[in-house]
Amino acid sequence: MVLVMQTDAPFWDSLVFDGIDDVDVEVVTAAFGTVEVVARGRGAGAACPDCGGFSDRVHDRYQRRLKDLPLADQGFVIRLTVRRFICGSADCSRRTFAESFSRLAAPYARFTTRLNHALEQVGLALAGRAGARLAAYLGFGAGRMTLLRRVMALPDPRFSTPRVLGVDDFAIRRGPTYSTVLTSVEDHRVVDVLPRREAGPLAAWLTRHPGVEIICRDRAGAYAEGARRGAPDALQVADRFHLWQGLGRAVETCVAAHRDCLHGPSPGGALPEAMSAESSRPQDDSEPLGRRAERKKAAHALVHQMLTQGHSRRAIARHLGWGLNTVL
Ligand SMILES: [Zn+2]
Repeated sequence: MVLVMQTDAPFWDSLVFDGIDDVDVEVVTAAFGTVEVVARGRGAGAACPDCGGFSDRVHDRYQRRLKDLPLADQGFVIRLTVRRFICGSADCSRRTFAESFSRLAAPYARFTTRLNHALEQVGLALAGRAGARLAAYLGFGAGRMTLLRRVMALPDPRFSTPRVLGVDDFAIRRGPTYSTVLTSVEDHRVVDVLPRREAGPLAAWLTRHPGVEIICRDRAGAYAEGARRGAPDALQVADRFHLWQGLGRAVETCVAAHRDCLHGPSPGGALPEAMSAESSRPQDDSEPLGRRAERKKAAHALVHQMLTQGHSRRAIARHLGWGLNTVL
């Protein structure tokens, strides 16, 4: 079915171009799953972008094709006739200029501003491939590189120097190269990324951004040194992850030291293997060698006992709460 509607009624304008008053809609057609709107500029002329002088002397016209947000599951395209005006100002070096539709689309853009905005949001939420799948479902028709380009074109978010700064390292592409990420602990936002995980870049960053009161970091000496040099008045605290990690190790060391105080497992206990295995799990580097070897031997014997009972390695790992590599 092909629907053609000749229109000069404001109804279509307000429906299709809500709040945009610088175009006139001439024809609306619907065919093959796409609504096409033919429109042109409404103003009598336009202002030169260089000198600001008004001109209504038309040099020529050309067509722009703008893809817009889908309308009721149909693709939506605006075919826009753009006039190029002659700048008549003697002082201006520009000969001609095209009229702009700043609220509808950016210059040279193939998508309308509102479709662009939607693509930015999809790209920010899901990035390339996942975003492209959602965009296809929503009828936006944008590939993963288009989404990534929209995200890359966004200006960097502005931030104020956080009062509580989180400092931690991360592996680039899970490889052997590390960088440092700075976060605002109070509002959980990434503030900056520094090269390497050394004291120098952190100290320089803190010097450039005074006002940090608390630095929340891991226990690496480099960050302690960088924080001391860059923000000597700031309070340095261990972050929650490393506090938990330290507490866990301390508890395990303590329990291991008092292992002899524990009674043997009751014969009718629910999971005696798991209990003895958990306490024999090799973890702590500061443990005496003899005891560690004893625990490893016990773990080895336990795994083999379960294997002879017919359990798979995966099932054993799951039952004991160990990684598969530990069982292997
Ligand atoms: Zn001019």
